[in-house]
Amino acid sequence: MSAGILDGRAVAAGITERSIERVGELARTGGQRRLHIVTATTDPSSESYVRALTRYGTRIGVRVTVERLDEGAPAETIRRALASASADPSVHGVMLQTPLPAGVSLQQVATAIAVDKDVDGANPLSLGTWMSGGAGFAPATAAAVIELLDHHGVELAGARVTVVGRSPVVGKPLLHLFLNRDATVTVAHSKTKNLAAATRGASILVAAAGSPGLVTGEHVGDGAVVVDVGTNYDAFGRLSGDVDAGSVAPRAAALSPVPGGVGAITTALLFRNTITGLAARRPTEPAAQTTTEPAPVPVPH
Ligand code: NAP
Repeated sequence: MSAGILDGRAVAAGITERSIERVGELARTGGQRRLHIVTATTDPSSESYVRALTRYGTRIGVRVTVERLDEGAPAETIRRALASASADPSVHGVMLQTPLPAGVSLQQVATAIAVDKDVDGANPLSLGTWMSGGAGFAPATAAAVIELLDHHGVELAGARVTVVGRSPVVGKPLLHLFLNRDATVTVAHSKTKNLAAATRGASILVAAAGSPGLVTGEHVGDGAVVVDVGTNYDAFGRLSGDVDAGSVAPRAAALSPVPGGVGAITTALLFRNTITGLAARRPTEPAAQTTTEPAPVPVPH
């Protein structure tokens, strides 16, 4: 047996096409939608992600503004920036880029993002909202895992799911997203004794540990669907996931590649949230002059 591919790029292409249509409709009824990114890092992979978001926004017709704070910015400064963007009626989505300055935690600052503009589900209040069936957004990466599985017709109701990782941005929200879809969920983490025992019985296995090649064939039951969220760069800048595809592919029914799996969908979802959320449905107003936009970057094809 060799695993089928869970193609994230195809999922992203479908979402992008629908978003372009929606942006066109919004433009006819009241102006351009806007995503505002607050960043306090010069980490190269973060910078590259912010540039990719800006390019994607240009492609679908959403304005992206980037507010660059000092790398040592204290929590209060970050909170002020997030609160100010949240209060700005010309902004429809607010996103906080990580990593954060040393000593600042996401929990400390993300409550300053208004829930109706929290397009990456960073505010813990958003979690409470969507978990109980309200209008808040789940973190885009966690939501991307569900989109990927849905697109490929993987049945979630009744599935035995193991998620490796329990971070507030991936593992924990996935626990609730899967539960909301009637799956039975196990969450493993670094203190889990005997990881393979926690993963082998899973019909769906999600690896979100940030540890290259952590999940090998011995962790995977025959016929499992394996989703690799890991995005790990080595010293030469090469990207790999958390799954050792060579040993997993012969056992799995399907596997998501890195790149081209979950990561491809995350950006599309951030923008879909920006143009479909409650804030996007209100009429727009002129932009406040408090932000800087990065220089345009050529779009690779
Ligand atoms: P994180 O905050 O570092 O959390 C990692 C989680 O994995 C923790 O819960 C940790 O356990 C667990 N873990 C680490 N090593 C483990 C091991 N050997 N065995 C079992 N569990 C282990 O990372 P994150 O932000 O959730 O991100 C996870 C991965 O997804 C990273 O590679 C990241 O780059 C990637 N990611 C991708 C996207 C995207 O595709 N757009 C977005 C976000 C993240 P403890 O809680 O016990 O420490």
